[in-house]
Amino acid sequence: MRFPLLLLTVAIGLGPSLTFAQNLSALGTVPDWSRVSAYANTITREAFLEEMREVYSIGDAYQRQFKVNEASVRIRTGDDAWMELAFRQAGEQGQAPKRYWRPRAEIIADRTADRPLGGLRIALDPGHLGGKWARMEERWYVMDDGGKAVTEGDMTLLVAQLLAPRLTALGATVLPVRGTTKPTTSRRPKDFLALAKEDLAVMGLTEPEKTYAPEAPPAERRKTLQWHQERYFYRLSEIRARARKVNQQLKPDVVLCLHFNAEAWGDPSEPAFVPRNHLHFLINGAYNMAEMAREDERHQLLMRLLQGTHAEERALAKVMATHMARVTQLPAYHYTTNNVKRPLKNPYIYARNLLANRLFECPVLYFEPYVMNCEDVYERVQAGLYEGKRLVHGLERPSIFHEYAEGVVKGLVAYYGPEGDSQTP
Ligand SMILES: [Zn+2]
Repeated sequence: MRFPLLLLTVAIGLGPSLTFAQNLSALGTVPDWSRVSAYANTITREAFLEEMREVYSIGDAYQRQFKVNEASVRIRTGDDAWMELAFRQAGEQGQAPKRYWRPRAEIIADRTADRPLGGLRIALDPGHLGGKWARMEERWYVMDDGGKAVTEGDMTLLVAQLLAPRLTALGATVLPVRGTTKPTTSRRPKDFLALAKEDLAVMGLTEPEKTYAPEAPPAERRKTLQWHQERYFYRLSEIRARARKVNQQLKPDVVLCLHFNAEAWGDPSEPAFVPRNHLHFLINGAYNMAEMAREDERHQLLMRLLQGTHAEERALAKVMATHMARVTQLPAYHYTTNNVKRPLKNPYIYARNLLANRLFECPVLYFEPYVMNCEDVYERVQAGLYEGKRLVHGLERPSIFHEYAEGVVKGLVAYYGPEGDSQTP
């Protein structure tokens, strides 16, 4: 059975987007530009340019949308519409940017109980859905050796369920983005027929097949209405629903997006394991020209930049990478595509513009440990959840789920705890 390649990292914005009067991303809504005014005099010109160049913009992509002057930046808010935001003058006392989340320094300053994660409001977002949706969302495979199916959405949920009581015991307030395999979005594939038709028409398919056979190869699936309708449901609509929950209800200090990685499965008729296993983390950044040109994406980028989100993401990512690498013993994954940036020298950390890390209006750390379709991880998933250590695939070790959770806990305690090895990277 074929395992879909790196599906989670397929850039969301690449699909044909809905273009009404505004240039918006798929299922995107017109942003409220008046919110930006609250950030006047909060960031210096130097800081604005440095973040734009080092973190957010691929090359000069920002220059069509942001005109940086001496005392202010002009921001494109529509085809022919601009707004102006005043920079804080260097040396001038600025006000703190408006945001619902708090950086580490504020959490520690407000801490009353002496528990390592006291005061931290942490949202856990187990990637994908799993359960009966696993096959549809293409984060699923099964070997023909009678073993259990490997389903990412169930595995990430299990890790989150192991983490929650441990983090609570350490003083954190744990806010699950989902606690079951039930979708957060109320919409379903049937709600996206018109959009699927539009997308296929853009591809030149005006009379597409309605459905695909379960064993149809990916290239065939992608020509059907069913595949496009499902994608709108399980990815775009689901992630947007989670973002509304995070931004409007949970308002956490940080979101951990928990995933397992996967590599291309090769020839579907002759499935074979890949020989590699690795770890990396994603933080938000690396917007290309087309992404910056979309009004909602540009607004989301700006909110992150003006709220100082990157400083917090990079500091947490750096500490977490050290501890996860130590616990999992996994080497760093190396991107070979040009849709990422490396704002840190750390080999485990990349910046990418993903739907989830863009929409959540707070620091987000995206975990990508373990390649699910390598033999070692397969054997560990087959061994399941167990306490203590066992001999699995030739090594005496804890269950992969406990190991994952252990790395996360160690990283969080190191970053938010009293010892705080959070030196500026
Ligand atoms: Zn994933």
